[in-house]
Amino acid sequence: MAERIPRVPVREQDPKVRATNFEEVCYGYDAEEAKLEASRCLHCKNPHCVGACPVGIDIPGFIAQVAEGDFGADAEVIARDSSLPAVCGRVCPQETQCEGSCVLGIKFEPVAIGKLERFVADWSHAQKAAAYAKAQETQGSAAETGAPVSDSERPAIPLEGVQGVKCSRGAGKRVAVIGSGPAGLACASDLAKWGYDVTIFEALHKAGGVLEYGIPEFRLPKETVLKQEIAEVTSLGVKIETNVIIGRTVTIDQLMDKEGFEAVFVGTGAGLPKFMGIPGENLCGVFSANEFLTRNNLMKAFRDDYLTPIHAGKKVCVVGGGNVAMDAARTALRLGAEVHIVYRRTEAELPARREEVHHAKEEGIVFDLLTNPVEVLGDEKGWVRALRCIRMELGEPDESGRRSPVPIPGSEFEIPTDTVIMALGTSPNPLIAKTTEGLEITRRGCLVANEDGATTRPGIFAGGDAVSGAATVILAMGAGRKAAKDIDEYLNK
Ligand code: FAD
Repeated sequence: MAERIPRVPVREQDPKVRATNFEEVCYGYDAEEAKLEASRCLHCKNPHCVGACPVGIDIPGFIAQVAEGDFGADAEVIARDSSLPAVCGRVCPQETQCEGSCVLGIKFEPVAIGKLERFVADWSHAQKAAAYAKAQETQGSAAETGAPVSDSERPAIPLEGVQGVKCSRGAGKRVAVIGSGPAGLACASDLAKWGYDVTIFEALHKAGGVLEYGIPEFRLPKETVLKQEIAEVTSLGVKIETNVIIGRTVTIDQLMDKEGFEAVFVGTGAGLPKFMGIPGENLCGVFSANEFLTRNNLMKAFRDDYLTPIHAGKKVCVVGGGNVAMDAARTALRLGAEVHIVYRRTEAELPARREEVHHAKEEGIVFDLLTNPVEVLGDEKGWVRALRCIRMELGEPDESGRRSPVPIPGSEFEIPTDTVIMALGTSPNPLIAKTTEGLEITRRGCLVANEDGATTRPGIFAGGDAVSGAATVILAMGAGRKAAKDIDEYLNK
């Protein structure tokens, strides 16, 4: 009986060992483990998991192929709806999406949909890399099997069989995509499949958005995973121009009036960090999680062969409880610090993925819950020496449905620390709205767009964190895909 097979556990690096390195924590399934796990799927007539996936992947369809051992066919099933399966298999909050809706999960553990998606994507990338290496070998090249394949040299994904391919529909029409995060990549790859001439403009020197600069190597390896997925997008014909800040290097109006772009998608994310507004936040040793993670991930501070400076400190307090807080905490730990997470609610309200909280605990991160900072205290030289906090208790639910934390009068205390990292959320950068007439923003600084991505300016579409505020990879991808459809309709009116 399918439901009697327990969920196949996934192999991981030992917590003590991985706390000292930046290699990937989770090893993923091998082929036998994947087939066994796939055999647990009940193949429901009305699969709730598909409805719970913001890009609507045919989950039972690809799982059926995994169970059969036909990994090539299932990679194609996923590719119809997702341009970043190896990323999503690793970072999506599956417990609140596909796996949270798995019927098997009512009585038993849900099917490990994320781990299966990851297996299929990794298998497919490995096949392509091996095929490329073999071709190079035949041509007398010294390429090694499994070595990362450069963007321009990758074998293209066969378009036959990719649902919705209308290769000539967009022919001759140019679309600019601003930002190379999941929203931009998803929008660009759908448009390219339909034959549009798509250029992504990216402010940083590397593509990927948060996937490149925010999420650490130990959760999402850059060379072997992210680079491969981005190469799949460029193999569809999408061009990526890095080091171009739209609104500074060139404006949206110039792209449309002078460079011949007929539509623009804005997927510029929400990269502007928030602070608490408490005394002492300007002391030396206080950082935003974004700065700390960007130095480490994009600028490779953790590697001896890079000169990027980073202040890891001896004892670090990370304020916040989301994925960003977990990533900052686990990065500081790997750089040699003792790390505390300071969070004002309880463990039940932590917004981070469950797996990240579990891993952080295993690695030795200390959780100071129901605790809220009120002041950062400094020494005579202006460096952080302690975080003054107050104990909290949970009151009535707020508008988010979570119980509000309420300070307990007179319960202030100090946590000695030399570094404080604020991981309190982010908002969109105002540059695009400021330099583009007619683009409206909300009070929170997010671009105004309808649910299909149309903004207040005809021809300009937007989606992802730039519209929703900080959210998730898969929601950004879903928004990018919806906007691609809307752009297609707009350009074919
Ligand atoms: P981004 O990924 O932010 O990409 C926007 C891109 O636009 C950036 O590359 C930026 O440089 C570029 N850009 C900005 N302005 C301009 C301009 N003017 N001109 C040109 N380019 C510009 N989500 C999950 O689902 N699971 C997780 O585990 C998870 N962990 C996270 C960990 C961290 C540390 C962070 C910060 C976020 C995490 N998230 C996670 C959230 C998720 O990464 C984001 O919701 C998602 O990346 C948003 O995608 P996006 O394409 O809208 O924007």
